[in-house]
Amino acid sequence: MTSRERTYRIEGIIIRRRNIGEADSIFTIFSNTQGKIDAVARSIRKPRSKMRGHLETMVQSSLFVARGRSLDILTQAQTIDSYQEIRGNLEKSAAALYCFELVDLFVEKGEPLPELYRGLKQFLEVLKATSSPLSVRYFELYLLNLLGYEVRVFECVVCDSRLPEQTALLVPEAGGLVCGNCRLNTGPGRLIPVPIIKLFRFAARVSLENYVTIRVTEENLNLLRLATIDLIRYHLEREPKSQYFLENLPPPPQKP
Ligand SMILES: [Zn+2]
Repeated sequence: MTSRERTYRIEGIIIRRRNIGEADSIFTIFSNTQGKIDAVARSIRKPRSKMRGHLETMVQSSLFVARGRSLDILTQAQTIDSYQEIRGNLEKSAAALYCFELVDLFVEKGEPLPELYRGLKQFLEVLKATSSPLSVRYFELYLLNLLGYEVRVFECVVCDSRLPEQTALLVPEAGGLVCGNCRLNTGPGRLIPVPIIKLFRFAARVSLENYVTIRVTEENLNLLRLATIDLIRYHLEREPKSQYFLENLPPPPQKP
């Protein structure tokens, strides 16, 4: 085996950490070229570890990894961005951790997904600058579409006709919106009013940077949230754990 095969270099975002043994930690990393990987950092919890601080959940790092028999081993780590702007804000941290969990649950290990990696980085960049909850909704829809769970919101998924400007039924099982005529022939769904249909359509058409500038009422934000969660829940066949945390944050402090 050559040295090139024994170690490899990746850029990655640490999406999960769990401690094992006396001083080791296993990190789940979503990387640019290798997709999702698990790798162990030996003695990382000892005060003198050089990798401490470069290996934390939500840190984007440049990493050297050695192939191990059962688990790959992190040998070097250098922080590229520690996302302090997100880390220091409870609401933003919860949003980032929720999206990390989605990536972790939806993506199989070792499947390279460079586009999703760019999308996740983009999401974190936008999250640094804005508090709009629309960023999470956009990421959910982006992730679903990219992984092949397309959500059809322009035509009825049953009869293919262009949806009229009226409430439609979102049927996750059918893959999108259903018109009034076809409603009786589909599985269970949620009624989606026109403003929410528009938010779905915008998400398919505009960039994340533009999407977060859209002004939305609290009520519509909540309706959109319930709708995207229906989709996530259907495709995952479970509830992401961090969802509960994200939706039950204490209200932000009142401005004086
Ligand atoms: Zn129809």
